[in-house]
Amino acid sequence: MSAITYAVIDTTAIKHNLSVVTRYAPASKVMAVIKANGYGHGLVTVAKALESVDALAVARPDEGIQLRQAGFSQRITVLAGFVCEQELNDLIKYDLEAVIHSQHQLEIIENQKGKGKISIWLKLNVGMNRLGFNIKSYHAAYQRLWQCLSVNKPFALMTHLSNANDSNKEITLKQISTFKEIVNTLDGEQSIANSAAILACPDSLADWVRPGIMLYGVSPFAGDKKSELKPVMSLHSKLIAIKHINLGEPVGYSGTWISKESTKLGVVAIGYGDGYPRHARNGTPVLVNGIRVPLVGRVSMDMITIDLTELAQVKVGDPVTLWGQGLLVEEIARYADTIPYTLICGITQRVDIRII
Ligand SMILES: *Cc1c(COP(=O)(O)O)cnc(C)c1O
Repeated sequence: MSAITYAVIDTTAIKHNLSVVTRYAPASKVMAVIKANGYGHGLVTVAKALESVDALAVARPDEGIQLRQAGFSQRITVLAGFVCEQELNDLIKYDLEAVIHSQHQLEIIENQKGKGKISIWLKLNVGMNRLGFNIKSYHAAYQRLWQCLSVNKPFALMTHLSNANDSNKEITLKQISTFKEIVNTLDGEQSIANSAAILACPDSLADWVRPGIMLYGVSPFAGDKKSELKPVMSLHSKLIAIKHINLGEPVGYSGTWISKESTKLGVVAIGYGDGYPRHARNGTPVLVNGIRVPLVGRVSMDMITIDLTELAQVKVGDPVTLWGQGLLVEEIARYADTIPYTLICGITQRVDIRII
């Protein structure tokens, strides 16, 4: 039996989007970021489509181990590194690379004895204030890591930008120059750029780029009408009921939408239990037979209601697209007061995944 609510993952679109990365960063090596289950597209699916990249990146040790167990042998960086000796030993065992971002990790690695070697990325905090050594402690951390027998040398140097998707580049350019100034005299490959920086900030490219969201065909910029990237995920369902209601009738929980005329209402088998955003507003567009119609009433767990009044030819069972080609997830995110990252990451287990 095939589920009526499903997401299609277009792996040729991933490859196309990778070609956009290499067009913007022709001289850089690519570390493809596939954390959080490949941004909701499937860790292994995405890793397979990206087999040609120089390295993969995930957030946590478990995700890297999963890739090794699935047979992937390329370089894999764990962006949050390790938090205890056990995790460090796991990273070594599975040949995973670690971002070193804290004094805590530095001490663990210094005290770790004789269990093999690890490749690392030493992270500088340039203003995100999340992970990374501060400017004042970075050189000392570098020297100490250089002394560690278990660390492969030279190791790589990285940072992460906090404002790369702002239209004003002032903060980003400052952060890039801070990084360059600090690593200037140090040996080791350098990495700065996420997707937004790759697309908007040539100064950030360096030896390695770390694209995430753009590989999935989603623009990192709010309000962007981009064309070069191809959406990888499309989310589909079907009309499961059509009914006619009179003027003045409320629809859905708490009756947050009331018909202003007699209305042909459609019920679609998708809801927040599938990952469709609960906060999508009245008027959020939905494609029925390829035509845009508005969401009306609250999103519930298993269903949404839409206004079909304008569609003459429509019947139960007709296909509905929630996002994908022709209706970008970026637009749905705006209607739901969120960012597209959360929507693609949030598809739940109930949704059938079809890989093409
Ligand atoms: C998630 C992440 C990226 C990728 O960011 P996008 O905005 O998705 O391109 C790059 N670097 C680090 C450290 C990350 O955590």
